Amino acid sequence: MLNNDCLFCKIIKGEIPSAKVYEDDMMLVFKDIEPKAKVHLLAVPKTHFALLSEAGEEGGKYLAHIFAKIPDVARENGCENGYRLVINQGTDAGQTVRHLHVHILGGQPLEW
Ligand code: AMP
Ligand code: ZN
Repeated sequence: MLNNDCLFCKIIKGEIPSAKVYEDDMMLVFKDIEPKAKVHLLAVPKTHFALLSEAGEEGGKYLAHIFAKIPDVARENGCENGYRLVINQGTDAGQTVRHLHVHILGGQPLEW
């Protein structure tokens, strides 16, 4: 289920453009508009939930699929030497888009 007021739902629906690198029926991966590493991708489930605490079993199926696909997507997009995954949760983490997403960061050695 998508949400009419959500930026990433609008990107999923194609209402807002994005630089897509991978898509299937459960997930979309696109380039972050303000990259924080040479490679900075966002993997998003094609269903709306803001936080892990809202995912439940149904959201968990999307997350399992996303994590199964990330290794190939990362390798094919310039992360041959490794990458970092980040999921910001809520205010203290600085989460700005309230649609759960996995940051994929790589393409260079990363500072911690
Ligand atoms: P977070 O702070 O974890 O919620 O991450 C949200 C990310 O979405 C940030 O890294 C933003 O740069 C990125 N972002 C915001 N708007 C867009 C957009 N229209 N297309 C691609 N990435 C975006
Ligand atoms: Zn959404």
